Amino acid sequence: MVRAIVGANWGDEGKGKITDMLAKESDIIIRFQGGSNAGHTIINDYGKFALHLLPSGVFYSHTTSIIGNGVALNIPYLLKEIHELESKGVPTPKILVSDRAQIMMPYHILLDTYEEARLAGKSFGSTKSGIAPFYSDKYAKIGFQVSELFDEEYLKEKVERVCELKNVLLEHLYHQPKLNPDEVYKTLLEYRDMIKPYVCDVSAYLYHARKEGKNILLEGQLGSLKDPDHGIYPMVTSSSTLAAYGAIGAGIPPYEIKNITAVVKAYSSAVGAGAFVSEIFGEEADELRRRGGDGGEFGATTGRPRRMGWFDAVATRYGCRVQGATEVVLTVLDVLGYLDELPICVGYEIDGKVTKDFPTTVELMKAKPVYKKLPGWKSEIRGIRNYEELPQACKDYIDEIEREIGVPITMVSNGPGRDEIIKRQ
Ligand code: GDP
Repeated sequence: MVRAIVGANWGDEGKGKITDMLAKESDIIIRFQGGSNAGHTIINDYGKFALHLLPSGVFYSHTTSIIGNGVALNIPYLLKEIHELESKGVPTPKILVSDRAQIMMPYHILLDTYEEARLAGKSFGSTKSGIAPFYSDKYAKIGFQVSELFDEEYLKEKVERVCELKNVLLEHLYHQPKLNPDEVYKTLLEYRDMIKPYVCDVSAYLYHARKEGKNILLEGQLGSLKDPDHGIYPMVTSSSTLAAYGAIGAGIPPYEIKNITAVVKAYSSAVGAGAFVSEIFGEEADELRRRGGDGGEFGATTGRPRRMGWFDAVATRYGCRVQGATEVVLTVLDVLGYLDELPICVGYEIDGKVTKDFPTTVELMKAKPVYKKLPGWKSEIRGIRNYEELPQACKDYIDEIEREIGVPITMVSNGPGRDEIIKRQ
């Protein structure tokens, strides 16, 4: 069985915790897109971890954790994460890295930083992890695939060719030091030695695993609205955040993905620039940010304060649709217990007309939220394990969201801890 777990909003929905939970019942967990640009926060018996590149299955000794071909593979970063786990007492996980994954080069990170500086106020809010330059190179066919590390002659020649191109940008656009091809080549040989123990023909491995009936979990990063095709382009990431891409980024047949679990947050938060229709500001936002998540809504990678807003049913229904969600997990519901009333954005007003369909970015920039208000439950719901014990107003909020998004909410998360989850019958 192949299951995908993905975000239906802007990312930071609390996927880490849910993935960790589902990973327990899985044999194989795979990252299929993105890189070290976003973080999953996981709290377990070993402590609190912000994983950026490793799949969330690394804490279980029965699982195999895989970096799929769709990932932007930062090799030193991966090794650093593995060592960090070991230093905190986590048993050495079984990790495989696709021989078709491409390598995040040090110059991708430099180019990302230089480009953000060049764009200054008009920047996209990149995490400067090199993601956009990395995927640009992949599709321009000048990226380095893991497999290429093992042919020295081929590698050396390619490094020369790529450096020639990069140096034009570095010298004439950014006015920065040029790359030395010998140094780049040397770095790649070091990367080869670091990654060698993990390299695997992942799609063949998964083919056999499926034949043996293994449970496979595809772990998405960020959320629907950050998808380069279906998201709020250009304020998106550079690899697809959709479950469908799991087939490509891991190397499995698309029809094998039977269950698509979309994680939805009970309110909205976003990082980076871009239209955010139900955004709130001032003291109202500060309070939600302070109470949100586990110790406040600040970026797991950058520490940046997240932008806050009310639940956006228009964006979430769309987010679930483009994911092809078969079920929804609603997270961080516990945070909302302080509110007298809870606004839900149920429509967008664009040029005087109200729509429930999520528009393209140019239209989105004109959208104003249409709210419906529900009464708050004014109580602490942490500690509740039985759905029936939730306050009626809280159940009404969940029902309203379910009605709006049109996908069954099967689980509700009411705290950051691993066991703080309510299964809905
Ligand atoms: P991800 O990238 O989707 O995994 O999201 P984050 O790592 O940003 O997770 C959001 C934060 O919320 C983390 O600090 C989690 O520990 C925390 N969190 C997850 N689920 C819940 C929940 O149900 N309630 C509360 N209060 N915090 C949660």
